[in-house]
Amino acid sequence: MASRFEDLLHPRPEGLYCPPGDFYIDPVRPVERALITHGHADHARPGHSHVMATGQTLDIMAIRYGADHARTTQPAEYGEIIDIGDVSVRFHPAGHVLGSAQIAVEWQGMRIVASGDYKPRPDPTCAAFEPVDCDVFITEATFALPVFRHPEAASEIARLLASLRRNPDRAHMIGAYSLGKAQRVIRLLRDAGYSEPIYIHGALEKLCTYYQSEGIDLGELKPATVANGEKGQFAGAVVLGPPSAFGEAWVRRFPDPLISFASGWMSIRQRARQRGVELPLIISDHADWDELIETIERISPQEVWVTHGREEALVRWCAMNDILARPLHMVGYEDEAD
Ligand SMILES: [Zn+2]
Repeated sequence: MASRFEDLLHPRPEGLYCPPGDFYIDPVRPVERALITHGHADHARPGHSHVMATGQTLDIMAIRYGADHARTTQPAEYGEIIDIGDVSVRFHPAGHVLGSAQIAVEWQGMRIVASGDYKPRPDPTCAAFEPVDCDVFITEATFALPVFRHPEAASEIARLLASLRRNPDRAHMIGAYSLGKAQRVIRLLRDAGYSEPIYIHGALEKLCTYYQSEGIDLGELKPATVANGEKGQFAGAVVLGPPSAFGEAWVRRFPDPLISFASGWMSIRQRARQRGVELPLIISDHADWDELIETIERISPQEVWVTHGREEALVRWCAMNDILARPLHMVGYEDEAD
């Protein structure tokens, strides 16, 4: 199915390509000119010549890859119209992680919005998702099955606080991705009135410091390192680490660790069990099924293109609701990271 919209944007092995602007959105291979939606590693990769992204995403890329991850960089403000050749581009908040953006590209009266990863529900650690009128809405489909209905994040945090009260001697070890999820869990704990120091694995330190410098108050954070003989200080403590740290000896250094994990995937009990997660917290930075549907209904585009995830179910829903939809079968975006 080819439409005139494909003259403006279409998938290539490197990523979504815009011929009239000669740029890619979230390319998975090094390219000359890249527009980046957000700092997660599968969308923001090092090695492009020129990168345009929000200032926060550029900062995050510099933190993760070093300042020399690209030859030149250009920050885009939310809402600012930037011309690239004959194409106008505009970045709009995606509500996914700090600095995340949807990218609207406009040319010859057509507007396509590449939303990257997004979530419409409120998140105290980033700007709120903004629906943008468009002809084509390009959406992810990470949780695009009716079984995925994420509970309120605050109720998941309440379960965590209840577990801390029930298990005052156990260190609560929470696995959370280092960009976005970790800071959101910490901020949600603070919003729920938790004022104790929160201990963080070294891998989270730079990004937590960056969030704090951008005005996201995370309260008192301390390094989660157990020196000989001071194991006791972690009894009943909240300790956050990246998922990768949970296969290591690091976890076992804490007193009677209670393993928790904050992810949209935790709604699948079997996954939680396989990972040995005692306290699964369903906290996702992606839209759930209802939110995907509501967003598409609200924007009401002529066409929906689905980049990655459970594409078929969403395409089928669109067809049943008389919206032209197609899967793009984009490779290189891992939907595991949530
Ligand atoms: Zn992401």
